[in-house]
Amino acid sequence: MRTPVDSGNSTTTPCACSKRPTWSRVEDDSVMQWPVIELAEWEELRQCPDCGRHWLASWPDELEGGMILCSPEPASARRLRDIDRASTLRAYCLARLEEHLGPLKERKLECRKVGCARKRLDGSSYCIEHLIADRFGRHLAKLDAPARDR
Ligand SMILES: [Zn+2]
Ligand SMILES: [Zn+2]
Repeated sequence: MRTPVDSGNSTTTPCACSKRPTWSRVEDDSVMQWPVIELAEWEELRQCPDCGRHWLASWPDELEGGMILCSPEPASARRLRDIDRASTLRAYCLARLEEHLGPLKERKLECRKVGCARKRLDGSSYCIEHLIADRFGRHLAKLDAPARDR
């Protein structure tokens, strides 16, 4: 069986969506026109109509309400349940914390949470994972990961 192949050189031109950053706020309506593959309460799996790439549309911050578009982790994810939210939204969470705390730097002191061996961040009494858990929810923090694996 033959697969139809685009005759033009469109296959060598990367799709415009590939220039999108790992996460971005969605301010243009074009993304809202993309087909929705799967719908959940606070997130949608959408597909770029031009190249078929999957994207996670999410509302991670109930307080601020805006939709963000993220490149899913792992990139092979084709269902919402396959997406690792903590990894996918990591860059977003870090950027948001940075807006509040300035550059994210670890101090010598340990996190104030009992039993947490991670270092607290400059400007905070808590470590990065507890800050993420507190602000965005435990599902976005990597609290189970060992503290000294990096
Ligand atoms: Zn695309
Ligand atoms: Zn901690």
